[in-house]
Amino acid sequence: MIARVSLEIALRREFDYAIPPELAGKVDVGSRVQVPFGPRKILGVVTAVAEESGQTKLKPIIKIIGAQTLVTAKVLKLARWIGEYYCCAPEIALKSVLPEAVRSEDASWRERLFVRVSPVAGEFPKLPKRQQDVWNLIEERREMLLAELIELAETTAATVRKLEDRGLVQISSEISERDPYAHEQIVASQPIVLNPDQAKALGQVTRAMDAVNTTAPTKEPDAQPSMPSSTLHPPSSTFLLHGVTGSGKTEIYLQALAHALEQGKGAIVLVPEISLTPQTVERFKARFSSGTVQTLVAVLHSHLSAGERHDEWHKIRQGRARIVIGARSAIFAPVEPLGLIIVDEEHEHTYKQEEAPRYHARDVAVMRGQMENAVVVLGSATPSMESFYNCKRGKFRLLELPQRVDDQKMPHVRVVDMRQAKKDGKGIPIFSPQLKEAITQRLERKEQTILFLNRRGYSTSLVCEKCGHVCGCPNCSLTLTYHRPEQVLRCHLCGHSERVPQVCPNEKCKNPGIRYSGLGTQKVEDVLGKLFPQARIRRMDADVMKRKDDYRLVLGEFRAGKIDILVGTQMIAKGLHFPNVTLVGIIFADMALHQPDFRAGERTFQLLTQVAGRAGRGDIEGEVFVQAFTPFHPAIQFARRHDFVGFYDQEIEFREQLKYPPAGRVALLTLKGRNEEKVKFSAEHVKREIESKIQSPKPKAGAAGSESARGISDLIIAGPAPAPLLRAENYYRYHIMLRTRAMSRLSLLLAQITIPLVLPDDVTLSVDIDPVDLS
Ligand code: ADP
Ligand code: ZN
Repeated sequence: MIARVSLEIALRREFDYAIPPELAGKVDVGSRVQVPFGPRKILGVVTAVAEESGQTKLKPIIKIIGAQTLVTAKVLKLARWIGEYYCCAPEIALKSVLPEAVRSEDASWRERLFVRVSPVAGEFPKLPKRQQDVWNLIEERREMLLAELIELAETTAATVRKLEDRGLVQISSEISERDPYAHEQIVASQPIVLNPDQAKALGQVTRAMDAVNTTAPTKEPDAQPSMPSSTLHPPSSTFLLHGVTGSGKTEIYLQALAHALEQGKGAIVLVPEISLTPQTVERFKARFSSGTVQTLVAVLHSHLSAGERHDEWHKIRQGRARIVIGARSAIFAPVEPLGLIIVDEEHEHTYKQEEAPRYHARDVAVMRGQMENAVVVLGSATPSMESFYNCKRGKFRLLELPQRVDDQKMPHVRVVDMRQAKKDGKGIPIFSPQLKEAITQRLERKEQTILFLNRRGYSTSLVCEKCGHVCGCPNCSLTLTYHRPEQVLRCHLCGHSERVPQVCPNEKCKNPGIRYSGLGTQKVEDVLGKLFPQARIRRMDADVMKRKDDYRLVLGEFRAGKIDILVGTQMIAKGLHFPNVTLVGIIFADMALHQPDFRAGERTFQLLTQVAGRAGRGDIEGEVFVQAFTPFHPAIQFARRHDFVGFYDQEIEFREQLKYPPAGRVALLTLKGRNEEKVKFSAEHVKREIESKIQSPKPKAGAAGSESARGISDLIIAGPAPAPLLRAENYYRYHIMLRTRAMSRLSLLLAQITIPLVLPDDVTLSVDIDPVDLS
């Protein structure tokens, strides 16, 4: 027997190896193996097992890693699709489906020494005092970790060993699972009686789950997960759950998950990394993993230690954990059989991986659902244009929760025209008189306030009054941000930092009048402290939230009412639920509106709606102040009215005109290098290749009609042009943007063009399909 192996080095091909007799019957599709490759030993995944190979003199597999096949056949198929669609080497796609903690050769279970009480035959011996003390402890607990016993009894291993010699206890080495939530007190929760809207939505989901349960084998899915196909499938089993903040989406997820368990199936719940707070995880554990069922829910995210991740993953692989909750890469969790995938906050950009394979976890979820006959539920208060479009085209089914539970009202949103605020005084104040007044009232009424500004630091730039010099990063085309506590200027991209100059750094100027402009959260906090000296103010952004626990501690204090005003970046925009917050202030709502990105309006709308949703989650109606310089921009006005559909309708017109997603699909090619001329030249070369091979291909004799020769008729090529962020970490960057509706075809053609492409040594090309970040 031979095995075909995909090695962990991106060679874009697989190699055959012999299965040696001692491994016969143990090597299967998905097994991780170590094989010889030239003089090296390399890890890889078995992608096929066959009787014989076309090649002779095969080298044998050295060993198998892990007892069970690590990549299931289904996940392997998904990885193949990712490699093709996202235009990356299959080895890279395959590598990303297993967490490092599982792939690593020395990852394994942790074994620890346990002490266990043995049944006593005959009369209990009289023990010396120290042994008796230890005995008293262990007798009560029956079993515990040796280390724990030693610590509790203030004794030594030798003393415990004496008890073992007397036959009173047994000491043995056993696997001890690392449970990241072992110290959490989780109180079991019961299903809530749903309101009519919720019940209707859940009913549709569970009916779809029952329907796929009875249908025969998986149909071949479309190659493009979230684009409408010409042949509409009978009722889609992908749902978009559009529910305003606080409408009870999570309760629907919980009850749908219960249904999956009843069917004997497992499920995956994706949440953005930023929402993977203990608060979120607890809600799922409380329903499914409290009391006696300790391991039903596994959690996968980047804050776990490698050991914890290893254990959580294997609990899933062994089928002991049936529900997985995690960030982006949890979409590859080896749940089998898979009944349900939930993608919460489906519009979130963190679902897109910004390095190869550049997959979008929401789209992978839709694809995996189709491949494995699982129902997919995408949930959001502000759905992505893509998902809503797919509903309109009949590709997804729309479920709506238009009201908050218990008839709580949506917060009242007031847009404050900051151009007016400016006229009244000298400069632009941070707080409009209206917002200041509203904060004062909240302090008097002992209610809480959240102030949002999506930029950290103190001032966003340092500008010379005389010559206009702006302090920029030497490595990136970005201005440096002033951080007051450390008295440094810092680049938020590459981390470069330097001391604040006393005079203008421009050699010809050297003017001492250098001033700060722009606004960051540090300054908001600072000015707020001066305006309201009696208020208890805390800031939450990446500068202060450094340790794993910081986030939880501050939110705990806020919940306990020990903080009056919370100032923060997008970290505080999502999912928080605090009944006593009755005021939300958005300091600078149009900050992201004028960026060179076709999604700028959509992002602003989403962020404003999400932040506004933090207000009035209790009995008192919430109030939101949105400070803006372009108060009549549609993104701001539709957010003010909580009108997602209105926003969608006007936004889709612009997207359709320009063939931007969701009306078309984008592939973004980035060329990167230290020499700008070379980068530019290479970009032009790439463009010519695309033009000649994809846009208007010369028909080759004999190849007429074959897919690759036909080209793509609706292809639009823009660029090459300097990227909006021309320099990043000392590299120059140029973009070529391609737009088409036939992205699966384009991906394949791009792979054919880019693999043999010869570029100068120091210029690299990356291909991003369905990019989220256009900078
Ligand atoms: P969303 O996920 O849409 O923001 P949640 O699921 O967090 O909303 O629900 C908000 C709050 O309302 C939660 O505390 C939840 O327990 C509660 N809730 C959900 N559904 C109901 C219901 N049918 N009746 C009463 N309370 C509910
Ligand atoms: Zn920089």
